[in-house]
Amino acid sequence: MAVRPCESPGPAPATRPDGSVTWEPQVRHLYVHVPFCAHKCEYCAFYSEVPRGDLMERYVKALGRELERVAADLRPRTIFFGGGTPSLLPLRLWERLLRQMDRLHLLGAAEFTIECNPATVSADKARLFRDFGVNRVSLGVQSLDEALLERLGRIHSRRQVFESWETLRAAGFEHLNLDLMFAIPGQTLAVWRATLREALALGSEHLSTYEVIYEEDTPLFAQLRAGRFEVDEDLACAMYDELLEAAAAAGYRQYEVANFARHDGPSETPLPTHACRHNVNYWRGGSFYGLGPSATSYVRGVRTRNAANTLRYCAALETGRRAVEFREALPPLARAGEAAAFGVRMVRGWPFADFTRLTGFDLRREWAEDLAWLVARGLGEISPEAFRLTRRGLRFADLAAERLLRPAPPD
Ligand code: SF4
Repeated sequence: MAVRPCESPGPAPATRPDGSVTWEPQVRHLYVHVPFCAHKCEYCAFYSEVPRGDLMERYVKALGRELERVAADLRPRTIFFGGGTPSLLPLRLWERLLRQMDRLHLLGAAEFTIECNPATVSADKARLFRDFGVNRVSLGVQSLDEALLERLGRIHSRRQVFESWETLRAAGFEHLNLDLMFAIPGQTLAVWRATLREALALGSEHLSTYEVIYEEDTPLFAQLRAGRFEVDEDLACAMYDELLEAAAAAGYRQYEVANFARHDGPSETPLPTHACRHNVNYWRGGSFYGLGPSATSYVRGVRTRNAANTLRYCAALETGRRAVEFREALPPLARAGEAAAFGVRMVRGWPFADFTRLTGFDLRREWAEDLAWLVARGLGEISPEAFRLTRRGLRFADLAAERLLRPAPPD
């Protein structure tokens, strides 16, 4: 099979398994967007659609072509299939896709994650995933309260969460993540506590949590604007505090604003054993390929984005073109600003040496005023080795990020 390199050669920033920054000849991280959902959730602004006709089949073929185009520049240490609902793809299409990845020498990643909706997990799919080296599943639970699941427009029930959990464990998955959501309209502190208690009792290796955000063009945003409910910021803060305490009490180590993982063994390491290395690479400003409709790639300082339309995406690849519809090469300071803003989301902050190795800038000098501003407000702290956000600062990480960005001047 002919394989064409996509980008000019040259080292690409990536992260080592311990989260530190390194440079590699090929890109080491791959994201694939599967743009199908059985039903659109009330809060969701991701690109996805209800699959019709043979669209899934066409998508898998087009994705295969896109994989061929980047394979020579890709040796994945982490792979992440997100969406959308990747687990909605039928078994035979998954098998075709995974076989093609095998032919292109793209399997064998140390961390290979597939996002699954609890309503679409089956023993057959779980077995197939395991057979092709998938070793991590991220289960989109969001809540264990039936009324809230309905409120959010989720297609699964709480019973299906426990059933899919059993199915995945029985198939041999030893690295499972649960996605949970808080500050949902109508969610009380007591309901959040109950969900946390039950979810933590399952004993997943990883926990990702999201505060509801109101994205324009979502039903939830329209309801907020129409005054059907109000945002209670104090309650959201109380829920976040509850989360930190419950996760710590259950033995999880927080390593990012919203992410918690178990750590095996007594030794202190920069990252807990079960941290998601794929996401760490994003936060550390590393290169990655993003394939599929609407997916973003960031390779050697150039950001590209694919068409956010499955038909356009397929049509481009069927005629031998990539489906890239946006491309920008950020100037060095803007790149460094993004790295600073994303990197401080991690609990260990930015070690100054790593930041300089990645960007060429000294965080202490270029961002001196911003760091002082954050420290003066109790949001950040500086040691001889690193800058990091405090517990309060992590709660307001978006505010800190805004200070650290250095947007590129308009053309
Ligand atoms: S399942 Fe996920 S991607 Fe699909 S609509 Fe719901 S939140 Fe969005």
